Amino acid sequence: MNAGPPDLVPTRIQLNRPLPPLTYLAPQGLPAGVRVRVKVRNSLAVGLAMGPDPSPPAAKLRPIEAVIDPFPLLPAKLRELQTFAARYYGCLEAHLLPLSLPQAMLPHWEADEDGQRLSFHRDRGAWDALSDLGEAWQREPSILPTLLHRSALRGAGFTEVRLTGVPHPARVTPSQAKVLLALEDAGGALMEPELLEAAGVGASVLGTLEKRGLVARMKRVDLLGQRREAGVDRTVILNEEQRTALEAVELGTFGVHLLQGVTGSGKTEVYLSLAEQVLSAGRRVLWLVPEIGLTARLLDRLEARFPGRVAVGHAGLNAGEKHGDVVRLLFNDADLFVGVRNAVLAPLRDIGLIVVDEEHEGSYKSEEHPRIHARDLAIKRAQLEGCPIVLGSATPSLESWHAAQSGRYRLLRLRQRPAGITLPTVEIVDLRDAYRQLRRKVILAPLLMHALTETLMCGEQALLLLNRRGYENFWMCRACGKSLGCPHCAISLTYHRGDFRLRCHLCGHETAPPEACPDCGAEHLRGVGEGTEQVEEHLRQLFPTARILRLDRDTTRRRGSFEAGLLAVEAGEVDILVGTQMLAKGHTFPRLTLVGVLNADQGLKVADFRASERTFQLLTQVAGRAGRAALPGRVILQTYSPEHPAITFALAQDFEAFAASELPFREGLGYPPFTALSLYRAEADTPMEAREALETFRQRLSVPGLRVLGPLEAPVPRVRDRWRMHLLLKGGRGALGEVLARHPLDPSGPIALDRDPIQFG
Ligand code: ADP
Ligand code: ZN
Repeated sequence: MNAGPPDLVPTRIQLNRPLPPLTYLAPQGLPAGVRVRVKVRNSLAVGLAMGPDPSPPAAKLRPIEAVIDPFPLLPAKLRELQTFAARYYGCLEAHLLPLSLPQAMLPHWEADEDGQRLSFHRDRGAWDALSDLGEAWQREPSILPTLLHRSALRGAGFTEVRLTGVPHPARVTPSQAKVLLALEDAGGALMEPELLEAAGVGASVLGTLEKRGLVARMKRVDLLGQRREAGVDRTVILNEEQRTALEAVELGTFGVHLLQGVTGSGKTEVYLSLAEQVLSAGRRVLWLVPEIGLTARLLDRLEARFPGRVAVGHAGLNAGEKHGDVVRLLFNDADLFVGVRNAVLAPLRDIGLIVVDEEHEGSYKSEEHPRIHARDLAIKRAQLEGCPIVLGSATPSLESWHAAQSGRYRLLRLRQRPAGITLPTVEIVDLRDAYRQLRRKVILAPLLMHALTETLMCGEQALLLLNRRGYENFWMCRACGKSLGCPHCAISLTYHRGDFRLRCHLCGHETAPPEACPDCGAEHLRGVGEGTEQVEEHLRQLFPTARILRLDRDTTRRRGSFEAGLLAVEAGEVDILVGTQMLAKGHTFPRLTLVGVLNADQGLKVADFRASERTFQLLTQVAGRAGRAALPGRVILQTYSPEHPAITFALAQDFEAFAASELPFREGLGYPPFTALSLYRAEADTPMEAREALETFRQRLSVPGLRVLGPLEAPVPRVRDRWRMHLLLKGGRGALGEVLARHPLDPSGPIALDRDPIQFG
């Protein structure tokens, strides 16, 4: 052990802000990945040690203020992934750090009372001793908490109490009975504090009941703040296709698998079986989902199968929950981590399997800096961990599909529908005909009206999808032709009748609707293009006794309200569900037999080479909502372009044929998956500035083998008073990486990079 304080040497410190690493004096041997506190100008900041600086600046260097961690908190493989991601997406590792480790995560290393003091070693620079402890921690997580102060563990979860299902003994005490009855009332499980309050008893009763085997206590994070049913694990016997898929996934080695099968074909059962094998072999599972709102049912299934071993992370969690979650991972207290996009960077160790469910979903791509793609990073992470990854979808992204077709990924398919489930019938209404016949705007064509009436008469449920919220899309002046636009953005304002406002869906700007046109003064304003709010009103007039529920971003602002709405549908409290595409995914309602898409080709109008693919995916998904249980389903698509391939293949529900028709287009035009894209986005106070920044960048480009498009105005050229221009680079991944290496962007400059972009707005 060192006798005195260790020598200080120049060390690179990455701050958690958009700056390249700075150089400070830090103890010799300080391991990379340890957090330190440093002074920047006159304030304190947290940074990450990145190793010694071989060529320190000549200026006088400041020493760091303190070393926070005794050893690196993030697993080494995760650090490698961050290094890769920073290089690939052209961001700093500092940008990725907060995604792995919330800022609030500052364990109180120094405050332990009686154990071995980590801070003692740390302050002496005894990194060898610490690194032994660090390794011991990785092997045997339970040792570390004893070395820490308890406050570091605060928030590490809540205790849930659940009924075990052990047969009821003949006699229990009155207070025990109160507990059992309260649990019974709550559907079998409650968080401990709630339970004690509901039963009006003290905690000691729980101990007694636990000893008698009547209840079990387990630590868990109360994720969605909602009551969870004590799920019963239905272990199913896999069918032959599922077994084939299961056996094809080789554990313990890297491989990418694409599991394709319609909703309900049993993909999740395959993931669960794989997870079971991996967990019983002592390794961990990272499970990515596109949206947390869809996971309540999944979490129940996971809890039932792997009680107490599941942790969840997502943006909807409050700080305490997030903190608790990450603490659990750091302490290896959870073996299966479920999360959305950023969970791909969660500090999970020793991963044996990665699952990316609904791999085609756009929500895996971040639309803010750093613009990572969680599915793509998950593949890289699997490679670093040397484990298999399974991408699942009914309608895979054409990127993944192409990779599977060309043998880079292994294709696994589930073609059987489980017994008792048939494909719905899909019909098309040509809105042009409907308009010609009726000579007015048609919200519900006669065929859909008729089907809706029938459905309601049978006491079944209907879902109507329209991908536009608000009452009217925009207001236009009939006299001068101008539409009412946002003063800060280059889009129109949407009319919300419920609160009598015109609102910008980009920046949130809102005003009271004017009486007269602000431009010409004529009182001829009229709304154009119906939104969900108007459809809801229309339905209430047509079916005054029907129970109608609208679910879109306007009605689901409150946390949990979306889930509550879905529960109401499931409980049969709703006859007609109307809403935006948030309704398309993942839910199964046994009594829902009719799905109507009011404007199926709406998504085709956007200028985006993926418009067809997205429309096909949306229509296929929403069609899958109809007729899931015993009742057969019917799907009606209203469209102005019934001959479009995205519509006709959705009608046939034939993903493979759609892919076969779409891929040649992509190849011909040189779009992914046949080339890669880098979108350079410039933003400035004037259009000139934005253009010039990209012009200059373009002129300097010195990498061969690229196609460069632009600078062009972004499809929405102004947002929040900032002007936006695009420069699109097409080429191989290697060439695009070379551009990044040779022409790094100034993090504080006007240009930002979006690699593998999926939104061009
Ligand atoms: P997906 O993930 O493809 O939507 P799931 O795995 O959720 O499909 O399966 C849909 C339903 O069918 C679930 O209730 C599941 O338990 C059930 N299921 C799946 N595979 C089987 C099987 N082999 N035997 C019985 N039921 C099954
Ligand atoms: Zn705006």
